[in-house]
Amino acid sequence: MQELLNLFNLENTAAIMTSRIEVVQGDITKIKADAIVNAANSALLGGGGVDGAIHSAGGKIILEECMAYVSANGRLPVGKAMITSGGMLPAKYVIHTVGPIWNGGKNNEDELLKSAYLGSLQLGVANNIRSIAFPNISTGIYHFPKEKAVAIAVDTVKLFLKNDLSIEKLLFVCFDDDNYELYQSKLRT
Ligand code: ADP
Repeated sequence: MQELLNLFNLENTAAIMTSRIEVVQGDITKIKADAIVNAANSALLGGGGVDGAIHSAGGKIILEECMAYVSANGRLPVGKAMITSGGMLPAKYVIHTVGPIWNGGKNNEDELLKSAYLGSLQLGVANNIRSIAFPNISTGIYHFPKEKAVAIAVDTVKLFLKNDLSIEKLLFVCFDDDNYELYQSKLRT
């Protein structure tokens, strides 16, 4: 850690942490990171939203790897993550995680969303990634309230990065204006 602090001529980890997180608006399939995260479903067969976009831009190799995973391990539980290659995407890997479907907060949704972020980060670190891009997991078809999801996402990754210096850049890729504004204002706090 001290080496990194010296390298950037920074006095504390808080400064490093803030500079490592960025918010952008756009299409995550265009991001050239070591890994992009997919808001998948447990079947891992592709679907709508960001999942559909990743599978259609990444090509059939990603689906084949997902199918091989499911035949060996079964469906991916909510809050867990698995990894495939990036296929034809600019990203090297896709980390597939399953966020919770919002059910009024009665099904442990907050903890499961946190676990989806943490599981993705841990898997990324285990695969030596240095940069990672997240979509706004569960805030589309799964209807998790956006403001609450943003707070969980930002707090969870900040805490993780405090204890991990191997990830150099973490991007939140927002597709819609609402999320973009919410992430920017949450990161200013
Ligand atoms: P979930 O089922 O987890 O809600 P969705 O794909 O429906 O997953 O939505 C998750 C978030 O991803 C939403 O905020 C949606 O606007 C966003 N999204 C959809 N397509 C893309 C894309 N190509 N790049 C980045 N984000 C996207």
